[in-house]
Amino acid sequence: MKFIKYLVFALLHFSGISALYCLCTPWRARILCYHRISEFPRDPLLDVSKKKFEEQVKYLTRCYTPMHLSDIVEFFYEKKTPHRLSCALSFDDGSEDWLSLVIPVLKRYNVPATFFTTTGFIGNGLIPYPHPHAPARALTYEELTALAASSLVTIGGHTVTHPHLSRLKEPEMREEIKTSKRMLELWTGKLVNLYAYPFGNEADYNETTKRVTKEEGLKAGFSIEERTATSSDDLYELPRMVIFDEPLWIFKVRVSGIIDDFLYFFKQLIKSK
Ligand SMILES: [Zn+2]
Repeated sequence: MKFIKYLVFALLHFSGISALYCLCTPWRARILCYHRISEFPRDPLLDVSKKKFEEQVKYLTRCYTPMHLSDIVEFFYEKKTPHRLSCALSFDDGSEDWLSLVIPVLKRYNVPATFFTTTGFIGNGLIPYPHPHAPARALTYEELTALAASSLVTIGGHTVTHPHLSRLKEPEMREEIKTSKRMLELWTGKLVNLYAYPFGNEADYNETTKRVTKEEGLKAGFSIEERTATSSDDLYELPRMVIFDEPLWIFKVRVSGIIDDFLYFFKQLIKSK
């Protein structure tokens, strides 16, 4: 199966079709989701090596227009197309590498990013990831404040305790969203307008989550979905692609969105019949 996947990716990449797809769909925004950047990746689902991350950022600055995620949301609000070939970086949870490894790369290439922070992790030592063999140290309050001070950084909400929001009753769900937004605003002195649902798959949030997110004054909610975003997407369900520690040419094909945009198109077509 992996062989077939690599073969399809190779065909799309080396034939130039994936690059052509990007050029033909300039109105689509690529929203990327990372978790941790590390010198020595231990968890293939959560870690991207520092070396690969820098390669990816360099590539994005060359072939796309990296923007603040909030600016892309603004364009979508007005049903307008963001800048040509726009992309935005985002990070989830709150590990210390955001400050030690991510920020130096973002500054070097002048690339903005949004950091969706789980408030219960901050200042609490280790982040309890599902893979206990690869724990990460959480940011301290001081480190989060230092991170938020950069003009390249937007802080977004990612709940207090990182639950599956869809499994909570509305009052608890509201508490998670409201408290995390308030705490982050208090710690950083900046307004929090963007929210990423923990785990982010379709089963991890629901219509109530989207409504509560809106009612609590947030401008957009983000899920995890392997496709690009457009102004016709629901603002409280904007798709983000999870980035793994993969070779650069695979990254190029995935970020183009060519495979998943087509799969999504056919899925919608079947649904409408
Ligand atoms: Zn998370």
